[in-house]
Amino acid sequence: MSFVKGLKCRECGREYPVKLLAGCEDCFGPLEADYHYEAIAKKLTRDALSSRPKTIWKYWELLPLESEPKIGLSTGGTPLVRAERLGRKLGIDNLYLKNDSVNCPTLSFKDRVTAVAINKALEFKLQAVGCASTGNLANSVAANAAAAGLPSFILIPDNLEPSKVAATQIFGSRVIAVKGNYDAVNRLCSQIVDRYPWGFVNVNLRPFYAEGSKTIGYEVAEQLGWHAPDAIVVPMAGGAMISKIYKGLKELQRLGLISENERTRLYGAQAAGCNPIIDAVRRGTRDIRPVKPNTIAKSLAIGNPADGYYAASLIPESGGWAEDCTDDELVAGIQLLAETEGIFTETAGGVTVAVAQKLVEQGRIKQTDLTVLAITGNGLKTLEALDLAPPQAIEPKLAAFEEVFGGAYHVA
Ligand SMILES: *Cc1c(COP(=O)(O)O)cnc(C)c1O
Ligand SMILES: [Zn+2]
Repeated sequence: MSFVKGLKCRECGREYPVKLLAGCEDCFGPLEADYHYEAIAKKLTRDALSSRPKTIWKYWELLPLESEPKIGLSTGGTPLVRAERLGRKLGIDNLYLKNDSVNCPTLSFKDRVTAVAINKALEFKLQAVGCASTGNLANSVAANAAAAGLPSFILIPDNLEPSKVAATQIFGSRVIAVKGNYDAVNRLCSQIVDRYPWGFVNVNLRPFYAEGSKTIGYEVAEQLGWHAPDAIVVPMAGGAMISKIYKGLKELQRLGLISENERTRLYGAQAAGCNPIIDAVRRGTRDIRPVKPNTIAKSLAIGNPADGYYAASLIPESGGWAEDCTDDELVAGIQLLAETEGIFTETAGGVTVAVAQKLVEQGRIKQTDLTVLAITGNGLKTLEALDLAPPQAIEPKLAAFEEVFGGAYHVA
């Protein structure tokens, strides 16, 4: 039995039964899943949760499905890593990393949202699925569609990283590179779903898709022993994840799983070359001025963010802030995380680390704050962002080795 009440417009509050719908028919506002929380509270106790397998499906009652999931069964349950070495560098005593760079099956946080959306597509018996993507979503939709036995149409901007393109094509998807940026791709996808009976995960399946992001909030709280962090730094593209992590934490309070008194400050991170949400927060408004993206953080390069309005409202409301960083700073962030914690993240993760560093310097994140950084993607997918010198080549001779090694260490 499902615990989903239906869909509700975030703007005018109009309620709808569960169906395939991109937005409110009255006001075009975005739709959000609503649940029978009293019934869920009876079932989802800390005890009951402790014995369930560590995947996003642990929180099935809080996800908008009617039946058992059929694909994406190992998604979620990613490590929350205590990061002492990085914490010392940044000046945070209590630092944790939510490491979605090892999410299954395609090594990014997008596996969470896709798993929900593709299962929903199976429930709706749709004939094909697809998405507009900045890269990671393409990988994830292609993989999960293959596992579900559904054909997929993936539309991407024509300037994506080659590894992200290859890691989409390999699943047998129809990958279509659109001459233009993500916002042009997205507009085209809206026209496609108007004409064809397909489910595009971030267009007409968006109300279901977006709910998958809440699971980061659930997992972090449970992994902290049922506590909300003081601060969480989240990279933003469309701005959905940061809003949904907040919704997830609020739901846990409503269900009595974490204390009502715990407050989490949301910190949004973007690259300076595509920072429309940061710009709105700085101007003290929620009205987004769209930008033309120009950054190597392509997974975050959405110039007209669908949930930007909500992100720009929630961030200050939570007592948090939003900050950006340059491409050089994000590359330094990737390097710093790798060298201190042994975690190789993509450009979005570099943005998170670089922005966290600034927020500490600005005094917004305090040394004693229990702080979580959302590391949302894997570095092997954005190797082009790095400019590492090739390793030194030598003859296979001990003398040659000793010449380059230079004797910097003593043999005891
Ligand atoms: C998509 C993506 C994000 C941002 O998600 P939004 O919900 O669109 O804000 C962050 N990190 C990575 C790696 C992503 O692929
Ligand atoms: Zn409405």
